[in-house]
Formats: sequence, C-alpha cells, structure tokens
Amino acid sequence: MNVLPSIRSRLIAIVLATVIPAVLALGLLGYILYDNQKKQLEIDMLQTTRAMVAAVDRNFDIGLNVAQALAGSRSLQDGDFARFHVVASAVLTDRFPGFNFVLSDESGQQLVNTVRPFGAPLSKHGNPDLLRKVFVTGAPLVSNLYIGGVLNLPVVSIEVPVRRNGKVVYVLSCGFSTDSLTRLLTEQHLPEGRMAAVFDSEGVIAARTHMADKLIGRKGIPELLAKMRVQNQGIVEARTLDGLDVIIAFSRSPETGWSVGLSTPWTVVQSEALKRIALVYAMVFVLLTAGVAAGWVIGGNISQSVRDLAASALALGRGEAVVVMDRGPQEAIVVGRTLKAVERELQQYRDHLEELVVQRTAALEASNRELEQFAYVASHDLQEPLRMVVSYVDLLSLRYADHLDAEAREFIGFAREGALRMREQIIDLLQYSRIGRHDGGRTTVNLDEAVKEALSNLKNALEETGGEVMLANGLPAVVGVHVELVNLFQNLIGNALKYARPGEPPRVEISAETNGDGYVVKVADNGIGIDPQYHERIFGMFQRLHSRGEYKGTGIGLAVCKKIVEKHGGRIWIDSSIGKGSTFFVAFPVVIEAAAEASS
Ligand code: ADP
Repeated sequence: MNVLPSIRSRLIAIVLATVIPAVLALGLLGYILYDNQKKQLEIDMLQTTRAMVAAVDRNFDIGLNVAQALAGSRSLQDGDFARFHVVASAVLTDRFPGFNFVLSDESGQQLVNTVRPFGAPLSKHGNPDLLRKVFVTGAPLVSNLYIGGVLNLPVVSIEVPVRRNGKVVYVLSCGFSTDSLTRLLTEQHLPEGRMAAVFDSEGVIAARTHMADKLIGRKGIPELLAKMRVQNQGIVEARTLDGLDVIIAFSRSPETGWSVGLSTPWTVVQSEALKRIALVYAMVFVLLTAGVAAGWVIGGNISQSVRDLAASALALGRGEAVVVMDRGPQEAIVVGRTLKAVERELQQYRDHLEELVVQRTAALEASNRELEQFAYVASHDLQEPLRMVVSYVDLLSLRYADHLDAEAREFIGFAREGALRMREQIIDLLQYSRIGRHDGGRTTVNLDEAVKEALSNLKNALEETGGEVMLANGLPAVVGVHVELVNLFQNLIGNALKYARPGEPPRVEISAETNGDGYVVKVADNGIGIDPQYHERIFGMFQRLHSRGEYKGTGIGLAVCKKIVEKHGGRIWIDSSIGKGSTFFVAFPVVIEAAAEASS
C-alpha cells in the first residue's frame, strides 16, 4: 500500500543528501589531516633534535672552557701535578658534565687522572691519534667515541693543549661518559614512543634513550648516516637497529660534527593522526545522527499534521465537526483553519439545502395530494356518465336490433366493448388513487394471513389454472394497511397464475428472509418470465407487455403493487428472464415480529 515515500523519509533523504557530500569531503579532509599531522610531527621532531644538539654542544663547551682554564692554571705552569690533581678534582662537581680530567705528555703517557689518586700508576691515553693531532695543530678537539685507557669504558673527550712558553707540552683531556650524554637525552622528557640517540662525527652511537647497553659503540643505520653526511638536518624513513619502522629526524652540530637523531615509530605516527581524525569523524557522526534524528522527529510531526488534516477532511466529508490543530507546521495550521472555514460554509449550505428540501417536499406532497384527489374525483365522477353510455348502447341494440343492419350492430358492439374497457380502466384508476387514503387504518398485519386471504380471493383462478402456491412458514408481521397488503399479494400471485407457461401448471413459492434492516418477501413463479429490458417499465401505470388477446388485464396491477409497497416505506423489484420464471422481491423496512411469533 505505502509505495509512495513519506514526508519523514523524504526529509531524512534531504539530510543524507546534504551530509553525504560533506562526508566525502571529510574523507579528503582525513587524508589532509593525516598528511598535516605527519608534517607537523616532522617539524616538531626537527626542533627537538636542534635543541638536543645545542644541549650536547653546550656540554662540550662547558668541558672545553673549564679545561682551557685549567690548562692555564698556575699549578700546571709550575709543574705541580699534585696540586693540579686537587684543583682539577675540585671542579668535578655534580653540576659539571664531564667525569674526569687527564693530563698526558707527548708520548701518550697519562701523568694525572682524576679518577685515580695522585701518584697511582696510570696507563697510556686511549686515543693516541687524537692526542697527536692536538700536539701537531695546537688546537682543541672533540673526540669521537673511544675506549678510555684507564677505565676501559667508552668515553668522549675534549682535548685541550697545555702550553709552556708557546709550545704544547701536555694535552689536558676532559672525559664525558656515555651515561652523561644519555642523561642529556632523557632530561628532554620525550613523549611516549619516541627514541633519541647521539652520534659522534663518524656516525657511531654515543648515547641512546633505549637499549643503550647493546647499541652504544655501533654505527647508526646506513640510510641515516648517508643523509647525515650531506645535510645538517633532515628526515629519514627507515628501520632502526632494533627492527622498528620509524621516521627519524636528525640535526648535526656544525662545530663538532656530532648529531642527534630522534625517531618516532610509524605506529605512533599513525595512531596519533588517527586519534585526531577519529575525533573529527566522531563529531561529524554526532552531527549526522543529530541531523537524521531531527529529520525523523520533524518528519514525524509533519506526517502527523498531514494525517490530522486528512482526518479533518474526512470528518468534513462525513459532516462531523472539524478539529483544528494549534500545533505543527504553519502551513498545516492554515489548511486546518481553511477546512474549518469550509465546514462553516458547508454547514450554511447544508442548512439552506435542507430548508429547500423541506419546502420542495411540502410543495410536492401538496401537488401529489391534489393530483390524487383529482384522479380519485375524476375516476369516481366518470363512472356515472360511462354507465349511462353502456346502458344506452345496450338499450339501442335491444330496441332497434331489427332495424339495424349487420354492420351497424357490429359498430354498436365495438362501442360497447370500448365503453366496458374504459370502465375497467376507470375502476383500476380509482383503485390506484385509493391507495394510501386509508393511512389512518394502520395496524400490525401478519403477512402470512394477508397471503392466505389473497389466496382465498384467487380461489377461482387457482382452480382454473391448476396452480399450486407454497407458503414458507415465518412470513413477518408489518405495520400497514391490511386491505392494501392483501391487494399486493393478490396482484403478485394473480400475475404468477396468469403468466404461466402454456401446458405447465403454475407453481408459486412465497418465502421471506431478513436483510438486516427488515425482511425481504419473495414471490417466485415458474412462468413465462420477463425480458430484463422491461424490468423497470412493468411497474408503470397501464404498461403491458402483451395484447389483451394473449392475456387479459389493464396494466395497472404492478403499478398498484409499487404504490402500496412505497406507501409502506418499502421497495419492490424483480429478477427474471424469458422462459426462466420470475421472482418479485418486496422489502419491508420495519418488521414488528415474525409471523410465527405473532400467531403464537
Ligand atoms: P396486467 O397483468 O394487467 O397486464 P400488470 O401491471 O400486473 O398488468 O403487469 C404488467 C405486465 O407485466 C404484464 O402485462 C405482464 O406482461 C408482465 N407480468 C407481470 N407479472 C408477470 C409474471 N409473473 N410473469 C410474467 N410476466 C408478468
């Protein structure tokens, strides 16, 4: 039934139609967001690596400055190594980034090492090439990672020349442990998932936030080192030494050639980007749901208003009171008010019509009464002159029979027959116009008895035709005029006997059944039947389907039946076809009680 889309589904379609392009745009936005997020991350990572490189440089600078100051100290110039040990050890507080000072001569022999008591036997410098370079160039240097001579641990050192009379006589080294560098990285408090490493100028890992024990001393990944050689800073996408796919940002110090690398695993990059995208999508989903819900509610309200309007329109059609809504869309309220206005106009129109009907009915009844009165008076008054005509024609034929020739006698015969037929018709007309004149004599009439009385009046016809009438038990009782109802059945049964099939004795069945409001009485025969095209016509006055030669009659019988039935508030009709018999139906609207009950 509901094949057309409802207002609600149309509204939701509109919401979806507007939201779908937005959702498509969101897909693109998601991609842009992801890309932006990644770029922003790369920028942030580069900034962090620059800050970290600056921190490493600052550490080395502190070591360099302090070492240079110590190199020029009086104790060294005086060759008082014991004193120098004390002075240098005093510098090594917790706030100082380096962990020791070592004084070496040109052969590489350590003369003082603050991690050993003064005078204890010392090994050679762990990085003789570096040492030599300082002796040759006389310029300070930052080492790469190497294994320290005394502690046998990986260290980094700042090498500063100690001059006497302008000549480099010793080299003072300030050692930095890999731990101190690693601390530098951890002090940055990197976010979860990030890893940082410090590389020396050869690309060897000198500190690392994760797996420092295993990886310190090893070279960084080749892709990173290749890029570090040609750029001061940059981004590399690669797999780390511990097997993670990462984005790496690096920054190199132009002074020392040392670098810091900071990596973020792809999974972290993606999950951070996805978190943002998911947030945006969640907001869109909430908006979409709110849109659809609003569409659903608004659509439902509009549909309800339309249904209310339809109900109002139907009420208007049925003539019931129209209820005007004061809620809902403005247009629906306007239509509702219009319906109310139409209802008022219709009511006025209906009142006017009813008044007209009352007036016209009264006029019609008056003219009907006049007409009936006229027919009654005319047919009554015409009988007398007609009787006179018949008497005198009879007298004429009796007295002057001998004087008249055969033709004149024949003419007189025609005149007499015509006058007699006219008398029959006038009697019928009188009978017809009398119907309804006995309205005051209404009683409860048991139709069973009315039929029986009609049958007794038809005794002769029954005998002549050899007809048989079957009366089913339980014909109802109706309020009506007894003689008229007898007349009704007499006419119907009489016709059934008259219009029998030649050579076949007539059989008539009379029965009744309820039809809700009352009873329908059936009079069915096995006679010649009537062509359906005449079913209306036969109820008209003086309407006959046969000549007087074939069947006697005036054509008033069924008109009388119709008038009697209608005067009793009922209806009469026929079901018949030629050769199949006829059934006359008489519907009585109000039935007092079944005849069986009435008789008990
Ligand atoms: P009448 O019988 O005097 O001719 P009616 O008004 O009683 O007049 O009937 C009108 C016409 O209807 C009849 O001439 C007849 O042709 C037809 N008719 C009436 N009753 C029957 C019937 N039971 N079977 C067949 N034809 C009928």
